[in-house]
Amino acid sequence: MTGSYKLLEKNNIHYFSITQFEKFPTIIHAFSTKRTGVSNLPFEALNLGYCNQDSRENVIANRNLFFTALSVENFKLISPVQQHSDSFCEIEENTPLDNITADGLFTLQKEFILSIQTADCFPIIIYEPSAEIIGIVHAGWKGVLNEIIIKTITAITDKYNVKPKNLMIGIGPGIQQCCYEIKEDVLELFEKQLPYAKKCIRYEYNKIKLDLLHLLLFQLWSLRVSHNTINYIKLCTHCNSRYFFSFRREGPTGRLMSIICKR
Ligand SMILES: [Zn+2]
Repeated sequence: MTGSYKLLEKNNIHYFSITQFEKFPTIIHAFSTKRTGVSNLPFEALNLGYCNQDSRENVIANRNLFFTALSVENFKLISPVQQHSDSFCEIEENTPLDNITADGLFTLQKEFILSIQTADCFPIIIYEPSAEIIGIVHAGWKGVLNEIIIKTITAITDKYNVKPKNLMIGIGPGIQQCCYEIKEDVLELFEKQLPYAKKCIRYEYNKIKLDLLHLLLFQLWSLRVSHNTINYIKLCTHCNSRYFFSFRREGPTGRLMSIICKR
């Protein structure tokens, strides 16, 4: 397990990158930050998600800046409707690309941008080097509770007969335990559904704090993904207002985008 990552800048667009993924020249990935971009107040930032508080034109302009910086501006964007579910979708040659509703995506195809939008939830990128399968997952507390990462990875390994230990994983920035308070009702769900969740709960004064990142790691370990190929960016979206949108901190706000693609 490693936490080796970098903050990169190209054309004045700043994004995080996981070092271990950089050794594969056909793979392009990035976890966006909110720095620069054309959106106005209350964003003043690189908002990459359509929302009521920002104009469609701004989001399109920001996406162009982001994709051009990554040299994927001519690839097809897959931007699913995310529902905090445990449903995933494989993008095949003939998959209709409009209105994909899923919190996990994977594909063998080239020149598709698999993307996930977040503002505190966790984006997770997946790469299987022998069969060259790429994937991406969106996991907030509901996705973690319903084990979306386990279900998506199992779908990949079952269909393509590849081994979890060969997968490369990159978990992007999300809300860390320092800032992730939950109430009794959510605690009960975790205690009931995930026996291993006990180790990821901390009591601070009257507050219950949940460690979603650690839960994701438990889920990956349970699949026997190699410790050496699980990478994570341990930065809290709630603590780091310079780089990240945070729904918990700001209420309705912009969206970060994480992407993985194959050229
Ligand atoms: Zn924090």
